[in-house]
Formats: sequence, structure tokens, C-alpha cells
Amino acid sequence: MENQHGPDFPNGEYQGKPFSNSTPIYPSGASFPTVPEEEAGITYSDPVDNARVPLIKLEDNLRTHLSPNFTVGSFVGKVGRDYHYARISVDLVRTIQAIQERAQAPLFIVSGYRPPAVNELIKGADQSPHIAGRAADFKVSGIEPLEVAALALDEMGPHVGIGLGAGTIHIELREDLKSWVYTGAKLSHEEFSEWVQERTQRASL
Ligand SMILES: [Zn+2]
Repeated sequence: MENQHGPDFPNGEYQGKPFSNSTPIYPSGASFPTVPEEEAGITYSDPVDNARVPLIKLEDNLRTHLSPNFTVGSFVGKVGRDYHYARISVDLVRTIQAIQERAQAPLFIVSGYRPPAVNELIKGADQSPHIAGRAADFKVSGIEPLEVAALALDEMGPHVGIGLGAGTIHIELREDLKSWVYTGAKLSHEEFSEWVQERTQRASL
């Protein structure tokens, strides 16, 4: 399930579309003109997905809702103060909103889109999908990260990269299941992987 632009997204919304030209339409109906790569420059380059998720302008749009509970600002956080553009996958917004609805307590995105320099500064992985706009680290108020991971898996099935942290979880849109843990997580890598496998297999029965 690979095309020349990398793995397909689970919902396939960008399939067959020349994604650098496609205007994203978010669950709220919001849509923004996309910014050409040449205009944004290397600061916003996406070596991870080759600019599959297009850049949108942040200015004046930070408070614009992408879905009932989340704005552009929710997905960029502090990046919105210092940067002009961002990549935010429509599928990611839809997924986060769906997890929010399952959680029934406030979901807070700690880190969404990261320009390459920000990713480097916070020591993110080299090929981090945060750079590509298809990953989010988040927590749900009053709910343990492992329980939040359960909600994410119930929503996403095996089409997820999922990382368990001490206070947050990381999710990324991907075709095949992958799981890992961060320092301070309640389970070891092995324990979490096994738990993830069981949970996704049970869901697909
Ligand atoms: Zn992350």
C-alpha cells in the first residue's frame, strides 16, 4: 500500500490527488488557501512526507475551528507565535476529534505540527511525522495515558503509530501498526506492544 509519495493515510483522502495542490477541507468546513513550498521556504520543509500535507497560513487563523473542539491553534500550540505556516492533516483532525468524543473529558494537544527546527530543538525523532503534520502528542484530563491509548486504538484500529509516555501519548497516521514507549511510561516496550496487539486484534474480530 505504498505510492510514490509514501504510505497512504487510513482514510485515503489524499489518495490519487496531487497533494501539494489540494486544498484541505477540515471537518468544520474550514478551508484555507495552501501556501506554495517556494513561498514558505526551507524553514517549513517536509523531508518526511514530501509535503503531502500542504502548508496553510497561521496568521488570523489560529482561532478558526477545524472541528467542534479544536482550532488551528490547538494543533500548533506555541509554534503559532513564532511561525507563519503549518501542516495539519485533515485525517488527523478528524481522528483527534473522534478520540475527544470517546473520552468525554477535555483533550489537550501538547505538540502537533513542528517545523523542522522546532523538532530538532525538542529532540524529536529525525523523521518525525510531526514535521509532516500527521502526528500529535496529547493528554486527556483525568485519564491515564494507557486509557487514552485504548481510546485511540478503539478509534484508529491498527492504522496507527502509538507511543506511550508518562503523561501523554503520541499518535501518528500510518498504514501499519507500530508501538513504543517513552521514558517514564507505565509499561515497558514489550508490555505495551503486547497490550496494543491484543487490543487491536480484539477490535477487528
Ligand atoms: Zn509525538
